[in-house]
Amino acid sequence: MEQLFTGKVALVTGAGSGIGEAVAVLYAACGAKVIVSDVNEKGGNSTVEAIRKAGGDAQFEKCDVSRPAECEQLVKATLKHYGRLDIACNNAGIGGEQNLIADMSVEGFDKVIAVNLASVFYCMKYQLPVMLKNGGGAIVNMASILGQVGFAHSAGYVAAKHGVVGLTQNAGIEYSSQGIRVNAVGPGFIDTPLLKEAPPEMKAALVSKHPIGRLGRSEEVAELVIWLSSDKASFVTGAYYPVDGAYLAP
Ligand code: NAP
Repeated sequence: MEQLFTGKVALVTGAGSGIGEAVAVLYAACGAKVIVSDVNEKGGNSTVEAIRKAGGDAQFEKCDVSRPAECEQLVKATLKHYGRLDIACNNAGIGGEQNLIADMSVEGFDKVIAVNLASVFYCMKYQLPVMLKNGGGAIVNMASILGQVGFAHSAGYVAAKHGVVGLTQNAGIEYSSQGIRVNAVGPGFIDTPLLKEAPPEMKAALVSKHPIGRLGRSEEVAELVIWLSSDKASFVTGAYYPVDGAYLAP
């Protein structure tokens, strides 16, 4: 594995499962020291164990990203443990309530906005000053194809992911001249535990929306995150990159 991140410290939220786990494992395989963060301690600790077993360096820090004080504490804990922060993948997210807009509860809408959108603001708010002190950094925010188009019964999720793309563009405008690149990734439907409650007929319907003929794998999303986090993407910032088996192409 190319050692793209030797001497660098990376932070991943929602790293106890699915896409975040794959990103954390790949950051470590590319030489980064990794803060594995999740609200789910069991998942987070198992990702740390997998990284250490493979010879990498990782540490678990619990954080509910919908709580700004916990996001601030997470950055402080990163500095305490590894002394710096170079790369962040703000990935934690939930599927949220599935309902038509008129039937969606206010609580359900507010929850998905808090976990999937406000969290990205909170994380960047506390990560950016630390990266500015380092003299640079790279942030990758986890959006979705649903940050570009709508999807019935998912208004809160769709609004949150469109917001993540907007926040990313703003951060790119505000910080790229100071050495911090900020990009968003837009996965199509990926076969992770997030889809665990989807019945087989729904999974088949989701597959049919991807011209490639299958759902994606977490590792396929992680490869794009790695590239965007690395110096190979030195002129790429404020942008949205789909990784979606041509979902958005038709
Ligand atoms: P996943 O397998 O469910 O993993 C998400 C992780 O985040 C879980 O460990 C979860 O813990 C944790 N989490 C949930 N709420 C949190 C909170 N408030 N604070 C911190 N951690 C929290 O999901 P995934 O499919 O990998 O999704 C990761 C990201 O990719 C999300 O932002 C999602 O919207 C996005 N995405 C996913 C897909 C897809 O098809 N899977 C497509 C496009 C975009 P628990 O297990 O305890 O809930």
